[in-house]
Amino acid sequence: MVADKPADNANEKNDKLDVLKSTQTVVKKALDKLGYPNEVYELMKEPVRMMTVRIPVRMDNDQIKIFTGYRSQHNDAVGPTKGGVRFHPNVSEKEVKALSIWMSLKAGIVDLPYGGGKGGIVCDPREMSFRELEGVSRGYVRAISQIVGPTKDIPAPDVFTNSQIMAWMMDEYSRIDEFNNPGFITGKPLVLGGSHGRETATAKGVTICIEEAAKKKGINVEGARVVVQGFGNAGSFLAKFMHDKGAKVVGISDAYGGLHDPDGLDIDYLLDRRDSFGTVTNLFNNTITNEELLELDCDILVPAAIENQITEENAHNIKANIVVEAANGPTTLEATRILSERGILLVPDVLASSGGVTVSYFEWVQNNQGYYWTEEEVEEKLHNVIVKGFDNVYRTSETRRVDMRLAAYMVGVRKMAEASRFRGWI
Ligand code: NAD
Repeated sequence: MVADKPADNANEKNDKLDVLKSTQTVVKKALDKLGYPNEVYELMKEPVRMMTVRIPVRMDNDQIKIFTGYRSQHNDAVGPTKGGVRFHPNVSEKEVKALSIWMSLKAGIVDLPYGGGKGGIVCDPREMSFRELEGVSRGYVRAISQIVGPTKDIPAPDVFTNSQIMAWMMDEYSRIDEFNNPGFITGKPLVLGGSHGRETATAKGVTICIEEAAKKKGINVEGARVVVQGFGNAGSFLAKFMHDKGAKVVGISDAYGGLHDPDGLDIDYLLDRRDSFGTVTNLFNNTITNEELLELDCDILVPAAIENQITEENAHNIKANIVVEAANGPTTLEATRILSERGILLVPDVLASSGGVTVSYFEWVQNNQGYYWTEEEVEEKLHNVIVKGFDNVYRTSETRRVDMRLAAYMVGVRKMAEASRFRGWI
């Protein structure tokens, strides 16, 4: 009997860190609050389609290596599914499923004509050559080609994938389809039909959410102290935008540690020195840990790295007044409750990081119409979409007296549930 206890605790802890389970929990709560019957939850708790593929690639040492990949399509009642492809050693079926549900919610919150999709390949691009990466990218597209396409499911970049990988994938799909098909994928280089502003879109969206949240909290962004965890695509551009708006970025980090300066870090210098994987702290001696970084004295904290960073263990020690989740799933549900009880305004991932999918949608629209917009047009449209999404979620949170995460899920599931009902699925 005594021996059972640690196993129970371990299971309980694993459950709390299980992103699919916690997502399902909030989806259920949101649907209950909106008054939908249980069969709506039964449909939405899992993707409608999940494909696992095995991708053989000839490596540089002439041996064949078999990679495992996934493509999850959560719900296509509203329109084609849409979401990034992640290259990472920790990619799992569960994670890809959860990420595809989040994409559905994001599309619902910013009112895009999409459902959510997501893909991933178990690999470590940091240890692969350019040629090997191309082999994996093309092999993945061949393996999933039957279920993707500009009117079915549209991939995009995510962790450790970039515009070059999108270009290889677009080229492979165009060969299979036998015509040039830029609308198959977003996040492409500009010369292949990419959109202005796509690379910085997530960080721009987070910046707009920070400005809106700061207004609600009576904080002036100019002079505010900001801490950013993660210095990759999302984190580094965000640090730059905050710095340019006159905020003081007092802490940043990457996978190897963090940097802290209460007078503000030299962001332009750090951007100049970081590598393409978002690593910069390895160039410094006096670093702090990521755990210490999250608890730094600041006004605004932005987790922009990985999942499960703010938990019930450190939520009581967070000093920020506003937490804006640029990363997907950085805060557990217990931590969400603690932050909310402490009066900290949390802008959840499904709202805060929806800038990326919004400009991906703009890219797809431009590809479909064959007419391209200026950077200013993209920025103005993005601003309007994110402000509207923020207002909608904030208002729902106030009027329904729920935390911002539950409010965002309520806004996010509604359109999908209605579309599924009109189609006669439920
Ligand atoms: P990225 O690969 O460009 O950068 C990730 C950063 O996190 C790097 O600086 C890396 O060193 C750091 N990191 C990795 N492991 C860490 C750890 N254990 N502790 C602290 N830092 C760690 O990725 P990205 O595109 O910037 O994405 C970051 C997060 O934002 C992810 O959760 C992603 O899903 C989310 N996101 C990104 C986009 C986008 O368009 N880039 C859109 C929506 C959501």
